[in-house]
Amino acid sequence: MRLPFHYYGDPVLRTRCLDVREINDEIRTLVSDMIETMDAHDGMGLAAPQIGKLLRLFVIRNHNVDERGYIKLTTPQAFINPQITIEGDEFDEMTEGCLSIPGIREMVRRPFKITVEAMDEHGKTYVETREGLDARVVLHENDHINGVLFIDRIDKRAKKRIEPLLRNIKKKYDN
Ligand SMILES: [Zn+2]
Repeated sequence: MRLPFHYYGDPVLRTRCLDVREINDEIRTLVSDMIETMDAHDGMGLAAPQIGKLLRLFVIRNHNVDERGYIKLTTPQAFINPQITIEGDEFDEMTEGCLSIPGIREMVRRPFKITVEAMDEHGKTYVETREGLDARVVLHENDHINGVLFIDRIDKRAKKRIEPLLRNIKKKYDN
């Protein structure tokens, strides 16, 4: 089932989410609905607050990059109660967008390499190291469950430039 979306301006996107206490059928249904919702919007990731649930849970679609540089989305993955460790001191910059802030894409600087420990939808704990875009997607979604949006991480000039667009989004979705 596709879930209704919450957009920029909705306080649900600015709230620190709570740990998932128990991984049960309800959570598994939520994960599966979130994956369906993410795919319906061609997203690479979707965090629980974006569909109005204040839980430390997000889903992403992994991807491959082909020889021409095109990104092909592959398997979905759930991250429940994730813990992130930044590895090293390397950063990179890439353009990001967000399904909750339609029409805005800006450069964001993020750590290049992370280790993430999380549970999947069956309650199994896993640990993995991710780099580049693979790390970025996780960091973007992890920000969501802390009430942080990518526009909080762009430079001041860009922030100023998109202010009118943000006001329009707020007005359009009236939340
Ligand atoms: Zn987002």
